[in-house]
Amino acid sequence: MQTLRASKCGLSTAQLPSYILDVIDALTKAGYEAYIVGGGVRDLILGLNPKDFDAVTNATPAQVKEVFGRRCRIIGRRFELAHVYAGRELVEVATFRAPPKKAVTSASGMILRDNNWGTIEQDFVRRDFSINAMYYQPRKGIVLDFCHAIDDIKNKTLRLLGDPTLRFEEDPVRMLRTLRFAAKLNFSIAPEILEIFTPELTQLLRDISPHRLYDESQKLFTMGHLNRVLPMLIDFGIWHQLFADISPDISTFIERAAINTDQRIQMGKTINPAFFYAVLLWKPFLERCEFYLSKGVVPAEARAQAGLDVLKRQATRTIIPRFAETFIREVWEMQTRLLNPKPQQIQALSTHARFRAGFDFLLLREKSGDDTTQGMGVWWDAYQQMSTDEKERAISQYNRQRAKSRRKATTDDVVETKPVAAITEIEPLVNEPEPRSRRERKSRAKPERPIQTVSAGGSEIASDHPILKRKRVKRDLSQVIFGPTQ
Ligand code: ATP
Ligand code: MG
Repeated sequence: MQTLRASKCGLSTAQLPSYILDVIDALTKAGYEAYIVGGGVRDLILGLNPKDFDAVTNATPAQVKEVFGRRCRIIGRRFELAHVYAGRELVEVATFRAPPKKAVTSASGMILRDNNWGTIEQDFVRRDFSINAMYYQPRKGIVLDFCHAIDDIKNKTLRLLGDPTLRFEEDPVRMLRTLRFAAKLNFSIAPEILEIFTPELTQLLRDISPHRLYDESQKLFTMGHLNRVLPMLIDFGIWHQLFADISPDISTFIERAAINTDQRIQMGKTINPAFFYAVLLWKPFLERCEFYLSKGVVPAEARAQAGLDVLKRQATRTIIPRFAETFIREVWEMQTRLLNPKPQQIQALSTHARFRAGFDFLLLREKSGDDTTQGMGVWWDAYQQMSTDEKERAISQYNRQRAKSRRKATTDDVVETKPVAAITEIEPLVNEPEPRSRRERKSRAKPERPIQTVSAGGSEIASDHPILKRKRVKRDLSQVIFGPTQ
Protein backbone atom coordinates (compact mmCIF):
# COMPACT_ATOMS: atom_id res chain seq x y z
CA MET A 1 0.00 0.00 0.00
CA GLN A 2 1.29 3.44 -0.82
CA THR A 3 0.01 6.69 0.65
CA LEU A 4 -0.08 9.36 -1.99
CA ARG A 5 -0.27 13.08 -1.37
CA ALA A 6 -3.67 14.18 -2.63
CA SER A 7 -2.20 17.34 -4.12
CA LYS A 8 0.18 15.21 -6.18
CA CYS A 9 -2.85 13.45 -7.67
CA GLY A 10 -4.38 16.81 -8.52
CA LEU A 11 -6.91 16.61 -5.70
CA SER A 12 -7.92 19.39 -3.34
CA THR A 13 -10.84 19.99 -0.98
CA ALA A 14 -11.78 23.01 -3.10
CA GLN A 15 -13.05 20.59 -5.78
CA LEU A 16 -15.37 18.86 -3.35
CA PRO A 17 -18.94 19.86 -2.73
CA SER A 18 -19.60 20.74 0.90
CA TYR A 19 -22.10 17.91 1.38
CA ILE A 20 -19.50 15.17 0.99
CA LEU A 21 -17.06 17.01 3.27
CA ASP A 22 -19.86 17.30 5.86
CA VAL A 23 -20.38 13.54 5.79
CA ILE A 24 -16.66 12.77 6.08
CA ASP A 25 -16.26 15.33 8.89
CA ALA A 26 -19.23 14.06 10.90
CA LEU A 27 -17.97 10.47 10.77
CA THR A 28 -14.41 11.52 11.65
CA LYS A 29 -15.65 13.65 14.56
CA ALA A 30 -17.54 10.62 15.88
CA GLY A 31 -14.24 8.72 15.93
CA TYR A 32 -14.59 6.67 12.74
CA GLU A 33 -12.43 6.41 9.67
CA ALA A 34 -14.05 7.85 6.56
CA TYR A 35 -12.93 8.10 2.95
CA ILE A 36 -14.27 9.07 -0.42
CA VAL A 37 -13.93 6.12 -2.74
CA GLY A 38 -14.90 4.93 -6.20
CA GLY A 39 -15.87 6.94 -9.24
CA GLY A 40 -15.70 10.30 -7.45
CA VAL A 41 -11.98 9.98 -6.72
CA ARG A 42 -11.22 8.37 -10.09
CA ASP A 43 -13.00 11.08 -12.06
CA LEU A 44 -11.46 13.96 -10.10
CA ILE A 45 -7.96 12.58 -10.72
CA LEU A 46 -8.83 12.27 -14.40
CA GLY A 47 -10.07 15.85 -14.47
CA LEU A 48 -13.65 14.77 -15.13
CA ASN A 49 -16.79 15.91 -13.40
CA PRO A 50 -17.85 13.15 -10.98
CA LYS A 51 -21.43 11.97 -11.17
CA ASP A 52 -21.57 11.51 -7.42
CA PHE A 53 -19.42 10.80 -4.39
CA ASP A 54 -19.50 7.59 -2.41
CA ALA A 55 -18.17 7.37 1.12
CA VAL A 56 -16.79 4.37 2.96
CA THR A 57 -16.20 3.95 6.67
CA ASN A 58 -15.39 1.49 9.42
CA ALA A 59 -18.66 2.44 11.16
CA THR A 60 -21.42 -0.16 10.73
CA PRO A 61 -24.66 1.04 9.13
CA ALA A 62 -26.24 1.17 12.60
CA GLN A 63 -23.38 3.34 13.86
CA VAL A 64 -23.70 5.60 10.81
CA LYS A 65 -27.37 5.97 11.72
CA GLU A 66 -26.36 7.00 15.26
CA VAL A 67 -24.14 9.71 13.84
CA PHE A 68 -26.68 11.15 11.39
CA GLY A 69 -29.95 10.29 13.11
CA ARG A 70 -32.97 11.13 11.01
CA ARG A 71 -30.81 12.18 8.09
CA CYS A 72 -29.83 8.53 7.64
CA ARG A 73 -31.71 5.54 6.31
CA ILE A 74 -30.38 2.02 6.20
CA ILE A 75 -31.23 0.30 2.94
CA GLY A 76 -30.73 -3.15 1.42
CA ARG A 77 -30.86 -6.53 3.07
CA ARG A 78 -28.33 -8.58 1.19
CA PHE A 79 -26.23 -5.52 0.93
CA GLU A 80 -26.81 -3.14 3.83
CA LEU A 81 -25.88 0.47 3.17
CA ALA A 82 -26.50 3.80 4.85
CA HIS A 83 -28.06 6.59 2.84
CA VAL A 84 -27.22 9.95 4.34
CA TYR A 85 -29.10 13.06 3.27
CA ALA A 86 -26.74 16.01 3.23
CA GLY A 87 -28.56 19.14 2.17
CA ARG A 88 -30.38 18.21 -1.02
CA GLU A 89 -27.92 15.47 -1.85
CA LEU A 90 -27.83 11.82 -0.97
CA VAL A 91 -24.54 10.17 -0.07
CA GLU A 92 -24.13 6.45 0.02
CA VAL A 93 -22.07 5.49 3.02
CA ALA A 94 -20.82 1.90 2.81
CA THR A 95 -19.12 0.00 5.59
CA PHE A 96 -15.80 -1.74 4.90
CA ARG A 97 -16.66 -5.26 3.81
CA ALA A 98 -14.92 -8.55 4.41
CA PRO A 99 -15.01 -11.43 1.88
CA PRO A 100 -18.39 -13.16 1.72
CA LYS A 101 -18.80 -16.47 3.53
CA LYS A 102 -18.91 -19.69 1.49
CA ALA A 103 -22.52 -20.55 2.19
CA VAL A 104 -23.86 -17.50 0.43
CA THR A 105 -22.67 -18.01 -3.11
CA SER A 106 -24.74 -19.65 -5.82
CA ALA A 107 -23.74 -22.77 -7.78
CA SER A 108 -22.06 -20.60 -10.44
CA GLY A 109 -20.08 -18.74 -7.78
CA MET A 110 -22.30 -15.68 -7.63
CA ILE A 111 -22.40 -13.82 -4.31
CA LEU A 112 -25.91 -13.85 -2.86
CA ARG A 113 -25.59 -12.46 0.64
CA ASP A 114 -22.99 -10.09 1.75
CA ASN A 115 -22.94 -8.31 5.08
CA ASN A 116 -19.63 -9.12 6.72
CA TRP A 117 -17.95 -6.02 7.96
CA GLY A 118 -14.17 -5.94 7.60
CA THR A 119 -11.05 -3.85 7.32
CA ILE A 120 -10.10 -1.35 4.66
CA GLU A 121 -7.71 -3.91 3.13
CA GLN A 122 -10.53 -6.43 2.82
CA ASP A 123 -12.80 -3.76 1.41
CA PHE A 124 -10.22 -2.87 -1.20
CA VAL A 125 -9.91 -6.48 -2.44
CA ARG A 126 -13.63 -6.67 -3.09
CA ARG A 127 -13.82 -3.64 -5.35
CA ASP A 128 -13.89 -4.18 -9.09
CA PHE A 129 -11.20 -2.16 -10.85
CA SER A 130 -7.95 -0.77 -9.51
CA ILE A 131 -8.95 2.74 -10.58
CA ASN A 132 -12.18 2.44 -8.54
CA ALA A 133 -10.33 1.41 -5.40
CA MET A 134 -8.51 4.56 -4.29
CA TYR A 135 -9.39 5.88 -0.84
CA TYR A 136 -9.25 9.64 -0.48
CA GLN A 137 -9.21 11.32 2.94
CA PRO A 138 -9.67 14.97 2.01
CA ARG A 139 -8.93 16.46 5.43
CA LYS A 140 -5.67 14.57 5.78
CA GLY A 141 -4.91 15.28 2.11
CA ILE A 142 -3.98 11.67 1.37
CA VAL A 143 -4.98 8.92 -1.04
CA LEU A 144 -4.49 5.28 -0.06
CA ASP A 145 -3.48 3.28 -3.10
CA PHE A 146 -3.23 -0.46 -2.49
CA CYS A 147 -2.32 -1.60 -6.00
CA HIS A 148 -0.57 1.16 -7.91
CA ALA A 149 -3.90 2.26 -9.27
CA ILE A 150 -2.40 5.64 -9.99
CA ASP A 151 -0.23 3.99 -12.67
CA ASP A 152 -3.30 2.45 -14.28
CA ILE A 153 -4.88 5.90 -14.34
CA LYS A 154 -1.75 7.34 -15.97
CA ASN A 155 -1.58 4.48 -18.49
CA LYS A 156 -5.32 4.61 -19.10
CA THR A 157 -5.75 0.92 -18.34
CA LEU A 158 -8.76 -0.81 -16.89
CA ARG A 159 -7.54 -3.61 -14.62
CA LEU A 160 -9.67 -5.89 -12.49
CA LEU A 161 -8.50 -6.67 -8.99
CA GLY A 162 -7.78 -10.39 -8.62
CA ASP A 163 -8.43 -13.14 -11.12
CA PRO A 164 -10.67 -11.80 -13.92
CA THR A 165 -12.57 -15.06 -14.47
CA LEU A 166 -13.36 -15.36 -10.78
CA ARG A 167 -14.38 -11.72 -10.52
CA PHE A 168 -16.74 -12.06 -13.49
CA GLU A 169 -18.19 -15.27 -12.05
CA GLU A 170 -18.77 -13.59 -8.68
CA ASP A 171 -20.67 -10.78 -10.34
CA PRO A 172 -21.24 -11.00 -14.10
CA VAL A 173 -22.39 -7.35 -14.17
CA ARG A 174 -18.70 -6.51 -13.94
CA MET A 175 -18.53 -7.42 -17.63
CA LEU A 176 -20.92 -4.60 -18.39
CA ARG A 177 -19.02 -2.31 -16.06
CA THR A 178 -15.81 -3.15 -17.94
CA LEU A 179 -17.26 -1.96 -21.23
CA ARG A 180 -18.93 1.03 -19.62
CA PHE A 181 -15.74 2.34 -18.01
CA ALA A 182 -13.59 1.52 -21.05
CA ALA A 183 -15.96 3.55 -23.23
CA LYS A 184 -16.60 6.34 -20.76
CA LEU A 185 -12.96 6.93 -19.82
CA ASN A 186 -11.52 5.87 -23.17
CA PHE A 187 -9.29 3.37 -21.35
CA SER A 188 -7.89 0.18 -22.79
CA ILE A 189 -8.95 -3.08 -21.23
CA ALA A 190 -6.06 -5.01 -19.63
CA PRO A 191 -4.90 -8.03 -21.69
CA GLU A 192 -5.69 -10.52 -18.91
CA ILE A 193 -9.33 -9.42 -19.09
CA LEU A 194 -9.46 -9.53 -22.89
CA GLU A 195 -8.10 -13.04 -22.81
CA ILE A 196 -11.02 -14.45 -20.84
CA PHE A 197 -13.83 -12.07 -21.88
CA THR A 198 -15.50 -14.37 -24.40
CA PRO A 199 -19.10 -14.41 -25.65
CA GLU A 200 -19.49 -17.75 -23.79
CA LEU A 201 -18.63 -16.08 -20.51
CA THR A 202 -21.37 -13.50 -21.09
CA GLN A 203 -23.87 -16.34 -20.66
CA LEU A 204 -23.37 -15.75 -16.95
CA LEU A 205 -25.45 -12.63 -17.34
CA ARG A 206 -28.49 -14.89 -17.70
CA ASP A 207 -28.35 -15.30 -13.91
CA ILE A 208 -28.72 -11.59 -13.33
CA SER A 209 -32.17 -10.20 -12.62
CA PRO A 210 -33.72 -8.32 -15.54
CA HIS A 211 -34.33 -5.43 -13.12
CA ARG A 212 -30.63 -5.05 -12.42
CA LEU A 213 -29.81 -5.42 -16.10
CA TYR A 214 -32.27 -2.66 -16.90
CA ASP A 215 -30.50 -0.37 -14.44
CA GLU A 216 -27.18 -1.23 -16.01
CA SER A 217 -28.53 -0.64 -19.50
CA GLN A 218 -29.64 2.82 -18.37
CA LYS A 219 -26.14 3.57 -17.14
CA LEU A 220 -24.79 2.54 -20.54
CA PHE A 221 -27.30 4.75 -22.34
CA THR A 222 -26.69 7.82 -20.18
CA MET A 223 -22.94 7.84 -19.58
CA GLY A 224 -22.30 10.18 -22.52
CA HIS A 225 -20.45 7.63 -24.69
CA LEU A 226 -23.25 5.44 -25.89
CA ASN A 227 -22.06 5.55 -29.47
CA ARG A 228 -18.67 4.25 -28.43
CA VAL A 229 -20.00 1.41 -26.31
CA LEU A 230 -22.56 0.01 -28.81
CA PRO A 231 -20.05 -1.78 -31.07
CA MET A 232 -18.27 -3.04 -27.95
CA LEU A 233 -21.49 -4.64 -26.75
CA ILE A 234 -21.64 -6.53 -30.02
CA ASP A 235 -17.95 -7.47 -30.13
CA PHE A 236 -17.97 -8.86 -26.60
CA GLY A 237 -21.22 -10.75 -27.01
CA ILE A 238 -23.08 -8.66 -24.44
CA TRP A 239 -25.68 -7.39 -26.93
CA HIS A 240 -27.57 -10.69 -26.99
CA GLN A 241 -27.69 -10.79 -23.23
CA LEU A 242 -29.23 -7.35 -23.02
CA PHE A 243 -31.56 -7.28 -25.98
CA ALA A 244 -33.87 -10.16 -26.75
CA ASP A 245 -34.86 -9.63 -30.38
CA ILE A 246 -32.70 -6.80 -31.64
CA SER A 247 -30.31 -7.94 -34.32
CA PRO A 248 -26.72 -6.99 -33.50
CA ASP A 249 -26.35 -4.46 -36.20
CA ILE A 250 -26.04 -0.75 -35.65
CA SER A 251 -28.31 0.85 -38.21
CA THR A 252 -27.89 4.51 -39.19
CA PHE A 253 -31.01 5.22 -37.15
CA ILE A 254 -29.56 3.63 -33.99
CA GLU A 255 -26.21 5.31 -34.54
CA ARG A 256 -27.77 8.73 -35.03
CA ALA A 257 -29.89 8.30 -31.94
CA ALA A 258 -26.82 7.28 -29.93
CA ILE A 259 -24.81 10.29 -31.14
CA ASN A 260 -27.75 12.52 -30.39
CA THR A 261 -28.07 11.11 -26.87
CA ASP A 262 -24.36 11.64 -26.21
CA GLN A 263 -24.51 15.20 -27.49
CA ARG A 264 -27.47 16.03 -25.30
CA ILE A 265 -25.66 14.69 -22.24
CA GLN A 266 -22.50 16.60 -23.09
CA MET A 267 -24.58 19.77 -23.35
CA GLY A 268 -26.06 19.06 -19.92
CA LYS A 269 -29.54 18.46 -21.36
CA THR A 270 -31.84 15.87 -19.89
CA ILE A 271 -32.65 12.71 -21.78
CA ASN A 272 -35.33 10.12 -21.35
CA PRO A 273 -33.41 6.82 -21.36
CA ALA A 274 -36.54 5.00 -22.56
CA PHE A 275 -36.25 6.92 -25.83
CA PHE A 276 -33.23 4.86 -26.82
CA TYR A 277 -35.14 1.67 -26.06
CA ALA A 278 -37.86 2.96 -28.39
CA VAL A 279 -35.18 3.37 -31.07
CA LEU A 280 -33.62 -0.05 -30.49
CA LEU A 281 -36.95 -1.84 -30.51
CA TRP A 282 -38.42 0.04 -33.47
CA LYS A 283 -37.41 -2.54 -36.07
CA PRO A 284 -38.67 -5.55 -34.11
CA PHE A 285 -41.87 -3.56 -33.53
CA LEU A 286 -42.36 -2.91 -37.26
CA GLU A 287 -41.68 -6.55 -38.06
CA ARG A 288 -44.24 -7.64 -35.49
CA CYS A 289 -46.75 -5.14 -36.92
CA GLU A 290 -46.20 -6.70 -40.35
CA PHE A 291 -46.82 -10.10 -38.88
CA TYR A 292 -50.22 -9.08 -37.49
CA LEU A 293 -51.16 -7.15 -40.63
CA SER A 294 -50.40 -10.20 -42.73
CA LYS A 295 -52.83 -12.11 -40.56
CA GLY A 296 -55.51 -9.57 -41.42
CA VAL A 297 -55.51 -7.73 -38.09
CA VAL A 298 -56.58 -4.09 -38.45
CA PRO A 299 -53.68 -1.60 -38.23
CA ALA A 300 -54.39 -0.03 -34.83
CA GLU A 301 -54.89 -3.40 -33.24
CA ALA A 302 -51.78 -4.75 -34.96
CA ARG A 303 -49.72 -1.87 -33.56
CA ALA A 304 -51.13 -2.25 -30.06
CA GLN A 305 -50.46 -5.97 -29.98
CA ALA A 306 -47.04 -5.68 -31.64
CA GLY A 307 -45.97 -3.11 -29.05
CA LEU A 308 -47.01 -5.34 -26.19
CA ASP A 309 -45.34 -8.40 -27.73
CA VAL A 310 -42.03 -6.70 -28.35
CA LEU A 311 -41.86 -5.24 -24.85
CA LYS A 312 -42.81 -8.54 -23.32
CA ARG A 313 -39.99 -10.29 -25.14
CA GLN A 314 -37.54 -7.59 -24.10
CA ALA A 315 -38.63 -8.05 -20.47
CA THR A 316 -36.96 -11.45 -20.49
CA ARG A 317 -33.66 -9.53 -20.57
CA THR A 318 -34.27 -6.11 -19.08
CA ILE A 319 -37.47 -5.19 -17.30
CA ILE A 320 -38.40 -1.75 -18.48
CA PRO A 321 -40.56 -0.02 -15.84
CA ARG A 322 -44.22 0.33 -16.71
CA PHE A 323 -44.13 4.12 -17.15
CA ALA A 324 -41.19 3.78 -19.54
CA GLU A 325 -42.98 1.06 -21.50
CA THR A 326 -45.98 3.34 -21.88
CA PHE A 327 -43.67 6.12 -23.06
CA ILE A 328 -42.14 3.82 -25.68
CA ARG A 329 -45.52 2.68 -27.00
CA GLU A 330 -46.71 6.28 -27.14
CA VAL A 331 -43.66 7.36 -29.11
CA TRP A 332 -44.35 4.55 -31.59
CA GLU A 333 -48.02 5.41 -31.80
CA MET A 334 -47.13 9.05 -32.38
CA GLN A 335 -45.33 7.96 -35.56
CA THR A 336 -48.64 7.03 -37.15
CA ARG A 337 -50.37 10.17 -35.90
CA LEU A 338 -47.59 12.47 -37.10
CA LEU A 339 -47.33 10.73 -40.44
CA ASN A 340 -50.91 11.22 -41.35
CA PRO A 341 -52.47 13.76 -38.99
CA LYS A 342 -56.07 14.75 -39.35
CA PRO A 343 -55.83 18.42 -40.36
CA GLN A 344 -58.15 19.59 -37.61
CA GLN A 345 -55.96 17.85 -35.03
CA ILE A 346 -52.60 19.24 -36.13
CA GLN A 347 -52.56 22.07 -33.63
CA ALA A 348 -53.63 19.83 -30.75
CA LEU A 349 -51.04 17.22 -31.75
CA SER A 350 -48.26 19.80 -31.64
CA THR A 351 -49.06 20.55 -28.00
CA HIS A 352 -49.52 16.92 -26.97
CA ALA A 353 -47.34 15.74 -24.06
CA ARG A 354 -45.72 13.12 -26.28
CA PHE A 355 -45.30 15.38 -29.31
CA ARG A 356 -41.70 16.35 -28.66
CA ALA A 357 -40.45 12.78 -28.24
CA GLY A 358 -42.57 11.53 -31.14
CA PHE A 359 -41.35 14.32 -33.40
CA ASP A 360 -37.68 13.84 -32.45
CA PHE A 361 -38.10 10.15 -33.23
CA LEU A 362 -39.74 10.88 -36.59
CA LEU A 363 -37.05 13.37 -37.58
CA LEU A 364 -34.29 10.94 -36.55
CA ARG A 365 -35.88 8.28 -38.73
CA GLU A 366 -36.12 10.67 -41.63
CA LYS A 367 -32.55 11.92 -41.28
CA SER A 368 -31.37 8.31 -41.20
CA GLY A 369 -32.79 7.76 -44.66
CA ASP A 370 -36.15 6.25 -43.71
CA ASP A 371 -38.38 7.47 -46.53
CA THR A 372 -41.52 5.94 -45.07
CA THR A 373 -41.80 9.15 -43.04
CA GLN A 374 -42.78 10.82 -46.35
CA GLY A 375 -41.02 14.04 -45.39
CA MET A 376 -43.32 14.63 -42.45
CA GLY A 377 -40.36 15.07 -40.08
CA VAL A 378 -39.26 18.16 -41.97
CA TRP A 379 -42.90 19.26 -42.31
CA TRP A 380 -43.42 19.21 -38.53
CA ASP A 381 -40.06 20.85 -37.99
CA ALA A 382 -41.07 23.73 -40.21
CA TYR A 383 -44.58 23.86 -38.73
CA GLN A 384 -43.22 24.54 -35.26
CA GLN A 385 -41.31 27.60 -36.46
CA MET A 386 -44.35 29.19 -38.12
CA SER A 387 -46.56 32.09 -37.05
CA THR A 388 -50.26 31.38 -36.46
CA ASP A 389 -51.20 32.59 -39.96
CA GLU A 390 -48.49 30.54 -41.60
CA LYS A 391 -49.62 27.51 -39.63
CA GLU A 392 -53.16 27.91 -40.93
CA ARG A 393 -51.91 28.18 -44.48
CA ALA A 394 -49.66 25.15 -44.01
CA ILE A 395 -52.57 23.14 -42.65
CA SER A 396 -54.89 23.97 -45.55
CA GLN A 397 -52.16 23.21 -48.06
CA TYR A 398 -51.54 19.92 -46.27
CA ASN A 399 -55.28 19.27 -46.34
CA ARG A 400 -55.45 19.79 -50.11
CA GLN A 401 -52.49 17.51 -50.73
CA ARG A 402 -53.91 14.91 -48.44
CA ALA A 403 -57.26 14.93 -50.24
CA LYS A 404 -55.44 14.59 -53.55
CA SER A 405 -53.33 11.65 -52.47
CA ARG A 406 -56.36 10.08 -50.79
CA ARG A 407 -58.16 10.07 -54.10
CA LYS A 408 -55.18 8.38 -55.70
CA ALA A 409 -54.47 5.84 -53.02
CA THR A 410 -56.79 2.93 -52.66
CA THR A 411 -55.65 1.42 -49.38
CA ASP A 412 -52.78 1.95 -47.05
CA ASP A 413 -51.52 -0.66 -44.64
CA VAL A 414 -50.38 1.21 -41.60
CA VAL A 415 -52.09 4.53 -42.09
CA GLU A 416 -55.58 4.78 -40.71
CA THR A 417 -58.04 5.70 -43.37
CA LYS A 418 -61.17 5.98 -41.31
CA PRO A 419 -62.78 9.35 -42.11
CA VAL A 420 -63.61 11.23 -38.95
CA ALA A 421 -65.75 14.33 -38.66
CA ALA A 422 -64.16 17.46 -37.28
CA ILE A 423 -62.85 15.96 -34.05
CA THR A 424 -60.08 18.16 -32.76
CA GLU A 425 -59.31 16.11 -29.68
CA ILE A 426 -56.59 13.50 -29.79
CA GLU A 427 -57.61 9.97 -28.91
CA PRO A 428 -55.40 8.33 -26.27
CA LEU A 429 -52.16 7.17 -27.84
CA VAL A 430 -52.15 3.83 -26.08
CA ASN A 431 -54.50 2.16 -23.71
CA GLU A 432 -53.04 2.02 -20.28
CA PRO A 433 -52.14 -1.50 -19.26
CA GLU A 434 -53.54 -3.15 -16.13
CA PRO A 435 -52.64 -1.04 -13.11
CA ARG A 436 -50.12 -2.62 -10.78
CA SER A 437 -51.18 -1.31 -7.40
CA ARG A 438 -54.51 -1.71 -5.66
CA ARG A 439 -54.81 2.05 -5.21
CA GLU A 440 -54.35 2.61 -8.93
CA ARG A 441 -56.91 -0.06 -9.74
CA LYS A 442 -59.39 1.60 -7.41
CA SER A 443 -58.96 5.02 -8.93
CA ARG A 444 -59.26 3.47 -12.40
CA ALA A 445 -62.59 1.96 -11.39
CA LYS A 446 -64.14 5.35 -10.60
CA PRO A 447 -67.36 5.74 -12.60
CA GLU A 448 -66.68 9.28 -13.88
CA ARG A 449 -63.91 7.92 -16.06
CA PRO A 450 -65.30 6.90 -19.43
CA ILE A 451 -64.26 3.58 -20.90
CA GLN A 452 -61.41 4.25 -23.26
CA THR A 453 -61.60 2.98 -26.76
CA VAL A 454 -59.12 2.94 -29.56
CA SER A 455 -60.39 3.50 -33.04
CA ALA A 456 -59.24 0.59 -35.10
CA GLY A 457 -59.98 1.21 -38.73
CA GLY A 458 -63.72 0.90 -38.31
CA SER A 459 -63.98 -1.39 -35.28
CA GLU A 460 -63.56 -0.34 -31.68
CA ILE A 461 -61.44 -2.05 -29.05
CA ALA A 462 -62.67 -1.43 -25.54
CA SER A 463 -60.07 -0.98 -22.83
CA ASP A 464 -60.99 -4.34 -21.36
CA HIS A 465 -60.28 -6.12 -24.63
CA PRO A 466 -57.98 -9.08 -23.94
CA ILE A 467 -55.28 -7.89 -26.32
CA LEU A 468 -54.80 -4.79 -24.25
CA LYS A 469 -54.35 -6.74 -21.05
CA ARG A 470 -50.76 -7.13 -20.16
CA LYS A 471 -49.67 -10.28 -18.40
CA ARG A 472 -46.50 -9.85 -16.37
CA VAL A 473 -43.93 -12.60 -16.55
CA LYS A 474 -43.32 -14.13 -13.13
CA ARG A 475 -39.66 -14.52 -12.33
CA ASP A 476 -37.69 -16.16 -9.60
CA LEU A 477 -35.97 -13.21 -7.99
CA SER A 478 -34.45 -15.19 -5.14
CA GLN A 479 -31.17 -15.30 -7.03
CA VAL A 480 -30.91 -11.58 -7.46
CA ILE A 481 -27.59 -10.10 -6.53
CA PHE A 482 -27.21 -6.42 -5.81
CA GLY A 483 -24.02 -4.49 -6.31
CA PRO A 484 -22.54 -2.37 -3.56
CA THR A 485 -24.41 0.65 -4.73
CA GLN A 486 -27.83 -0.92 -4.78
P1 ATP B 1 -19.97 5.91 -11.73
O1 ATP B 1 -20.71 6.31 -10.46
O2 ATP B 1 -19.20 7.00 -12.37
O3 ATP B 1 -20.82 5.15 -12.67
P2 ATP B 1 -18.49 4.28 -9.89
O4 ATP B 1 -17.14 3.64 -10.03
O5 ATP B 1 -18.62 5.29 -8.80
O6 ATP B 1 -18.85 4.85 -11.30
P3 ATP B 1 -20.65 2.93 -8.63
O7 ATP B 1 -21.59 1.97 -9.25
O8 ATP B 1 -21.15 4.24 -8.15
O9 ATP B 1 -19.50 3.13 -9.70
O10 ATP B 1 -19.92 2.17 -7.46
C1 ATP B 1 -19.05 2.81 -6.52
C2 ATP B 1 -17.86 1.91 -6.24
O11 ATP B 1 -18.31 0.67 -5.69
C3 ATP B 1 -17.07 1.50 -7.47
O12 ATP B 1 -16.13 2.48 -7.82
C4 ATP B 1 -16.43 0.22 -7.03
O13 ATP B 1 -15.32 0.46 -6.21
C5 ATP B 1 -17.52 -0.40 -6.18
N1 ATP B 1 -18.38 -1.28 -7.00
C6 ATP B 1 -19.54 -0.97 -7.60
N2 ATP B 1 -20.08 -2.01 -8.23
C7 ATP B 1 -19.23 -3.03 -8.04
C8 ATP B 1 -19.23 -4.40 -8.41
N3 ATP B 1 -20.21 -4.91 -9.14
N4 ATP B 1 -18.19 -5.16 -8.00
C9 ATP B 1 -17.20 -4.67 -7.22
N5 ATP B 1 -17.15 -3.39 -6.84
C10 ATP B 1 -18.14 -2.57 -7.22
MG1 MG C 1 -20.45 6.33 -8.20
